[in-house]
Amino acid sequence: MSEQQNLRARIEEITAEITPRLIEIRRQLHANPELGFEEYETSALVMQELARLGVDHRSGIGKTGVAATIGQGNGKTIGIRGDMDALPIEETASPDYKSRNPGKMHACGHDAHTAIALGVSEVLARLSDALPGRALMVFQPAEEGLGGARAMLEDGLFEWVEPDIMLGYHNWPLIDGGTIGYHPKTAFASTDPFDITITGQSGHGAHPHLAVDPIVAAGNLVSSLQTIVAREIAPLEAAVVTIGSIKGGSARNQIPDSVTLEGTTRSQNPAVREAVKAAIERVCAGIALTHRVTCEPTFLTGVPPVVNDPDILHPVLETARGMIGDDKVIELPQGSMGSEDYAEFSTRVPSAHLRIGSRLKDRKTMLHRSDFDLDEACIPTAVKAIAAAAIDLMKR
Ligand code: ZN
Repeated sequence: MSEQQNLRARIEEITAEITPRLIEIRRQLHANPELGFEEYETSALVMQELARLGVDHRSGIGKTGVAATIGQGNGKTIGIRGDMDALPIEETASPDYKSRNPGKMHACGHDAHTAIALGVSEVLARLSDALPGRALMVFQPAEEGLGGARAMLEDGLFEWVEPDIMLGYHNWPLIDGGTIGYHPKTAFASTDPFDITITGQSGHGAHPHLAVDPIVAAGNLVSSLQTIVAREIAPLEAAVVTIGSIKGGSARNQIPDSVTLEGTTRSQNPAVREAVKAAIERVCAGIALTHRVTCEPTFLTGVPPVVNDPDILHPVLETARGMIGDDKVIELPQGSMGSEDYAEFSTRVPSAHLRIGSRLKDRKTMLHRSDFDLDEACIPTAVKAIAAAAIDLMKR
């Protein structure tokens, strides 16, 4: 056997040995879900496991985030990120490990992501003498819209250990357990939430000429915003502009002072993202002029798209095929219009992101549903593919 075959056989063996424990950990996390930046018990469990493995680790990076380094080799440093937070959803299915925290649930499978990152940590820790480089294990809090990745970076994660390459993953219920999916280019869309306040002048509903009506302006604005994607963005580019909330007015016979709107935009291409934002600003300025109101969008902190670097993705897929079989690595038809704050890492460091098959055999469900669950086969599949890929990348 070659050295590489030897190492891969060891990864297989260790993964098989630790899988029952990783499943136990995943179920324990599932039963005790914690929301973003409140992952106190989750990160305590992570730290306890990292201490058991004897690896150098730090807590409190981005409030409840934890990171660890494994290996001493002078090759590349590979960052591997798993997220830990749950969602404010009441679990409606009844697995043995059902959530014990009312109104909170691991409805996106971040419980399994944490177990996977712990599994990769154990495999790499047990092979640490043979590692050609180093791993930076990133246990990230608050992925679900609260900016946990950014918080870890602002807290100096990369000043502690700067990775040369990052690997990310998400369980994916549209493909079977035991498989790995990927998008050749854009894996997740960018998202930019925005607020718009339209301010006019209140007045009696009988005397519109003595008021400046923000409601009519808002109606026009909503329609005009829909022309951005329809008329300005190339039909084969992906973009979405959604207004999800409009609030204004309190009486049928009063024209109110102001109307507020909340919306979100999505796109897969950074140039399209900028074009959509600029168009929203321009349309708002036009509405202000047309209707004599003030109308300005405020963009809240968004997330860039997750774009795979082909120089990282292709070798990772090559290793994954070697670990789980050629037919188990699947190209997915299109990227998701969902977003992933893993983008905070992938826009700073060359990176690849994998979808780990997690479809249940006996029923249909999907991420963020109240009856969500996953095929735990995703755990060992991800552990061995990612551990092996990280080791191969360390040699580059
Ligand atoms: Zn998720």
